[in-house]
Amino acid sequence: MHNYLTPNFAFAEMIPDHGLGSRVWSTDNHEYVDLAGGIAVNALGHCHPALISALDAQAHKLWHISNLYTTKPAQALAQRLVEHTFADQVFFANSGAEANEAAFKLARKYARDHFGDGKNEIVACVNGFHGRTLFTVSVGGQPKYSQDFAPLPSGITHVPFNDAEALRAAVNGRTCAVVIEPIQGESGVLPASAEFLETARAVCDEHHALLVLDEVQTGMGRTGKLYAYQHYNVTPDIVSSAKALGSGFPIGAMLTTAKVGASFTPGSHGSTFGGNPLACAVGCAAFDIISQPETLQRVNEQGEKLAAALRAIAQDTGAFEIVRGKGLLIGCVLADAYRGRAGELVGKALQHGLLVLVASPNVLRLAPSLLLSDEDLNEGMTRLRAAVADFVAA
Ligand SMILES: *Cc1c(COP(=O)(O)O)cnc(C)c1O
Repeated sequence: MHNYLTPNFAFAEMIPDHGLGSRVWSTDNHEYVDLAGGIAVNALGHCHPALISALDAQAHKLWHISNLYTTKPAQALAQRLVEHTFADQVFFANSGAEANEAAFKLARKYARDHFGDGKNEIVACVNGFHGRTLFTVSVGGQPKYSQDFAPLPSGITHVPFNDAEALRAAVNGRTCAVVIEPIQGESGVLPASAEFLETARAVCDEHHALLVLDEVQTGMGRTGKLYAYQHYNVTPDIVSSAKALGSGFPIGAMLTTAKVGASFTPGSHGSTFGGNPLACAVGCAAFDIISQPETLQRVNEQGEKLAAALRAIAQDTGAFEIVRGKGLLIGCVLADAYRGRAGELVGKALQHGLLVLVASPNVLRLAPSLLLSDEDLNEGMTRLRAAVADFVAA
């Protein structure tokens, strides 16, 4: 098929046509088990009936009206987010990067409003990922995503992830925000230690800086709690959410307290499509399923089964050194002999009818539907086993 798109994506040869639950069919009618979940987006699998009917009902009422007005779906989704988290207020965007862009802008404005001009520095993590706008690639800790787009926004420093001492040393009176992913998703499914997040909270308090947690990947039930910060003894000032928030419909959100949110005065920030009624209606339907205790319980159960199955594959083949993550966000770190070859393994999996992901060149990542059935889990593992056998024999 001729590719009319700019070449920044390396598309697979297979062209997906339709999906149902945790299965996807290509245009040439091959069937795949989907353990990639659209990169942690399709939290309820493909074509969940509750999402289809929410989208259909809203499609017959109101698609778009602009932020000159509020709507019932936007207020209903914001209310759900507020009632289940630390937050009092929500700003809606269309993506994770936009939710983070809002978070970083708000952190700078809040500091300026309360402490004057000198307090504008952001401390973030090496290998962090926060999206692809210029501000978010700059706060992200991977120069390969930012260096070609210089000059970059300034006032941003990076500390090694999980290095509490380095974090303590980097934060000072000029710091307006510390930005952390509770699990570094793109760069290897690496969970933050309790010590690191607790230190972040403590140094932010000490220096009147805001703790911003990027939960774009870890949010909406992915780790077995609604948001991953809820596993820790830490309350953030701002959380960004996207990916699974619309479970396949584009939407992002920035959650914050009333005190911090007050700095987003009328006209200070905005978005044409943010809070779009279609996105928010789908978000409400997704939220109502994901937030059920039975769903979150199931994430923990299926996550344990999946991790156990992956550890068994590791044991039998020697392909993986460790299996890590939380709930249904799992990374398999390749053994030394296979370093840098995660992309090749994803290709082999595709040949065996399985969709999985990389998270850096060394880590195979799984982020399936939160409703993953035993049957799909087992079939996925059978196919992965076959792919790994090919991979280690190659
Ligand atoms: C995916 C991701 C983003 C970017 O989200 P987009 O919707 O692609 O802009 C930001 N932060 C984290 C942690 C992510 O995983």
